[in-house]
Amino acid sequence: MSRVWNFSAGPAVLPEAVLRQAADEMLDWHGSGMGVMEMSHRGKEFTAIAAQAEADLRELLVVPANYHILFMQGGAIAENAIIPMNLLGDKRVADYVVTGSWSQKSQKEARKYAEVNIAASSEASGFTAVPAMAEWTLSADPAYVFTCTNETIGGVEYPFEPDLAQIGRGDLPVVADMSSHILSRAIDVSKYGLIFGGAQKNIGPAGLTIVIVRDDLLGRAMPHCPTAFDFKTVADNGSMYNTPPTYSIYIAGLVFQWLKRQGGVAAIEAQNIAKAKLLYDFLDASDFYENRVDRACRSRMNVPFFLRDEALNEAFLAESKAAGLVQLKGHKSVGGMRASIYNALPLAGVEALVDFMRDFAARRG
Ligand SMILES: *Cc1c(COP(=O)(O)O)cnc(C)c1O
Repeated sequence: MSRVWNFSAGPAVLPEAVLRQAADEMLDWHGSGMGVMEMSHRGKEFTAIAAQAEADLRELLVVPANYHILFMQGGAIAENAIIPMNLLGDKRVADYVVTGSWSQKSQKEARKYAEVNIAASSEASGFTAVPAMAEWTLSADPAYVFTCTNETIGGVEYPFEPDLAQIGRGDLPVVADMSSHILSRAIDVSKYGLIFGGAQKNIGPAGLTIVIVRDDLLGRAMPHCPTAFDFKTVADNGSMYNTPPTYSIYIAGLVFQWLKRQGGVAAIEAQNIAKAKLLYDFLDASDFYENRVDRACRSRMNVPFFLRDEALNEAFLAESKAAGLVQLKGHKSVGGMRASIYNALPLAGVEALVDFMRDFAARRG
């Protein structure tokens, strides 16, 4: 067996130790005589798996007691509708900060349910930066302020936490799409009203959506919000109102255990800083490649880069693949290349990428 270095933006690489454990437990989980996929979601085995996963996530992110952790489905894109349906309440307006493709898509979907105010946008500069909070024009009475704290496609990450208390609006709930950098760095959950993310970037398999929501935001759903997507119903039923994505929750739980063995979020953040520094320093020192994102807002997880001679793109992709480095093609809306270097992609993978890029530049430059 030989595994490649996988730079996919998502679904993405998982820790090898997790895949091996899942393989070992595939036919018989802990002497139950069943694999996890075959278990009733209400049986004692799976109930224990889900409770442990939730407790580990709570510990890793230091989630305060007044926040619920929900295991949902539909991915981040479904949350773009589920969130306004749940949080608008008796208000009309929701504020959106647009920093790239994902927050753009979010505000478009929200228009089906809410009057959307674009509080700030970096579109004019090609989505290469995050507008400072001092430049946000919040409306008078929004239900919430929506952010995407890591734009997976543009490779733009917030260099600050959107703590609205700093601009005198600490009463407003901040919503954050953290799909592609959740658990990659320490955050202060108490600064947010709601955090969400699809699991398939930095947590586990597709099919699971994580929602972390503050108590007081439950119970406001629109009458026509599907019952299975009403946060209060999901919370009241311990994420088992409908059958949850059981196998995805199990793998996510193994990833949480793996993260704890690595030393938790602080330790993985230190590794992520080192990985990102290696790649960005190499790009900045090169006259063959470039990254075009504002330095302060460069994502540690998703690193888009360009060959200055784009005629070499196809050769770069073919040769990198032959060298065991896969999924480096950039998103079609940005072009060029993108290396996603999530928690589960070790430093050795980034070293292999940089070695290949240096060699390619030497041969083709
Ligand atoms: C991948 C991604 C999405 C879309 O997730 P789905 O699971 O396809 O719905 C939304 N937002 C961000 C930031 C993402 O990285």
